[in-house]
Amino acid sequence: MTPLTPNTIVDFIADIFTRRGAESYLGENVTMSEHMLQGALLAEQAGASDTMVAGALLHDIGHYTNEFGDDYIEQGIDNLHEEAGAKVLAPFFPAAVTDCIRYHVAAKRYLCATDAEYFAKLSDASVKTLELQGGPMSADEVAAFAKNPNLAAILQVRIWDDQGKVSGLRTPAFDHYAPLLQRVVSSYCANPE
Ligand code: FE
Repeated sequence: MTPLTPNTIVDFIADIFTRRGAESYLGENVTMSEHMLQGALLAEQAGASDTMVAGALLHDIGHYTNEFGDDYIEQGIDNLHEEAGAKVLAPFFPAAVTDCIRYHVAAKRYLCATDAEYFAKLSDASVKTLELQGGPMSADEVAAFAKNPNLAAILQVRIWDDQGKVSGLRTPAFDHYAPLLQRVVSSYCANPE
């Protein structure tokens, strides 16, 4: 496939949403694109930064990494969709975005260990996957995870992830967020750090 560039990545992601967004979101009553767009809408309504809106919108992009070419279909990588998603977007998005993607499953484990009310709000499907994902973090894991400079954004995106599962809730279409994504990509690629 043609290598992706800062000028093509947003259209490329838009195309994935269009062609594959109707796929079901494991055990939930929303499609993948409804789920990711609901996360973005919650972030937008909260007045979040562009990078947090982008993180909420793209947190599950790792379910589509086979779209990014054969290099990414390595052994086992599809099983860790959060790591795979962060990797494919890392050339174009800052850590403020890719950390929200990479750690959205870890954030659930962190919040289950640190916030008694959090677990009670999880969906049935999310409770089921928690054990497979390692259960709540240990105290050592919590301490290590808390050192991430993007911790607050990671946890907030996780909460929008959990809330973005409302059947029938209308959201703007992907196109509404394309200019925001392009701003994030252009700014990062002009000055990667
Ligand atoms: Fe999600």
